[in-house]
Amino acid sequence: MKTVACYCRVSTEEQVKYGFSIQAQKDALTKYCKENNYKYDFYIDEGISASSMKKRKALQEMLEKSVAYDMILFTKLDRLSRNVLDANNINKILQDNNCTMKAIDEDDVDTSTADGMFMFNLKVSLAQREIGKTSERIKFVFKNKREKGEVTSGTTKYGYKIKDKKFVVDPEEAENIRNLYKYFISVNGDHKKTYSYFVKHFPGKGQDALFNYLRETAYIGKYKLYRKNVYIDNYIPAIMNQELFNNVQNLLPRVEKVFTKENVPTIFAGMLYCYYCKSRLVRKIDYRSKNKNVNYYCDKQYRYKVGINEKQCQNSKVISDKSVEEYLINNLKDLCKQYISKSIIKTKPKPQKNNIKINSLKNKLSKLKDLYLDDLINKEDYKQDYIRINKEILKLEEEQKEEPQKDFTYLNELINKDIPDIYNTFNIEEKRKFWLKIIDKIYIKEGKIKEVTFL
Ligand SMILES: [Zn+2]
Repeated sequence: MKTVACYCRVSTEEQVKYGFSIQAQKDALTKYCKENNYKYDFYIDEGISASSMKKRKALQEMLEKSVAYDMILFTKLDRLSRNVLDANNINKILQDNNCTMKAIDEDDVDTSTADGMFMFNLKVSLAQREIGKTSERIKFVFKNKREKGEVTSGTTKYGYKIKDKKFVVDPEEAENIRNLYKYFISVNGDHKKTYSYFVKHFPGKGQDALFNYLRETAYIGKYKLYRKNVYIDNYIPAIMNQELFNNVQNLLPRVEKVFTKENVPTIFAGMLYCYYCKSRLVRKIDYRSKNKNVNYYCDKQYRYKVGINEKQCQNSKVISDKSVEEYLINNLKDLCKQYISKSIIKTKPKPQKNNIKINSLKNKLSKLKDLYLDDLINKEDYKQDYIRINKEILKLEEEQKEEPQKDFTYLNELINKDIPDIYNTFNIEEKRKFWLKIIDKIYIKEGKIKEVTFL
């Protein structure tokens, strides 16, 4: 049986303008999966446009877990992406994980075949052209403004103010920057000392800002265009000479080594969730430790609720990749058993109770109809009561719809196997795949595993 992930997306604008809904996509995909006898999960981004891939949390989550699926399904390609680069990135991630994708309403888009792959590329390019028209206009406006030396974006740079739409030097901030550069040279690029200097003189700024400032070419009058390696002159005034800047650049690589984010392989990234606020835990890698320890934490514990002096989440402890692994290995059998028995209890008792209610409501409806037909109530009253009761019935029937009974064969197999022995021969990537194939979410409370749900 194939395991597939169904992806749905609708933007707020589409909802309002065209009445597109998530439910319509869900229904179509569910029907398709049932017809083909697929095991399926849903990933849903509601109220989010296709242009911002980063904001689409469900999409990100699905991609991270794609190794556990044979195929990604969506109704139309524009639900997944309208941007060539994103679409190709998505496709690459899926290919790496042996996962294909298919648009069920555009049956020529199916990356498991050569023809379908061709159509995928063609349609993505066409979709991008639609968006391209608007962004080209925006680019044109930007270009014109820049030629006149006008600032094109609303954000300013540290060291500058914007006056009459142009960058001008902010004398105080510029002095602060020059002193930072000089200090950095005076301590020979010592990171620790520089950072404590930075914290003192640039309140509220973090380490990313420090490195951005130390690398900022605008300070020698070269404005870098977005993330491209294109610089424009005569757009932003220099605040230091080339020599000071170069001396800092020469010291930078050595320090950076400690801090550049190398790709530290982790097993559970994307699978851990906060028990309290249900948001996904954030990964933090301790680059200074020899073993590059990986910890996870709920970053809502650092955020405050709007208008109140109260944290968004109370989950304050971290948990390491290693301790999650140890706990799971030692408790896997029990966790599986617990999960299975919990799921079975959850799915059973409701329907019968609802059936009785539904039947009595249906009885009421037919009595109501009799009353109306016998002219004992008027049409308006009949209509009102009919709508009210019918709504109740629909609601109960919706509740009654059983969640598809999970298939526990694989989990039962796991319970009977001896995991640790096989597991210890795996490398980190294989370990990650192993867990991704069986685990849905791991809930963490105060640095401890509280609950595990399986796929
Ligand atoms: Zn939390």
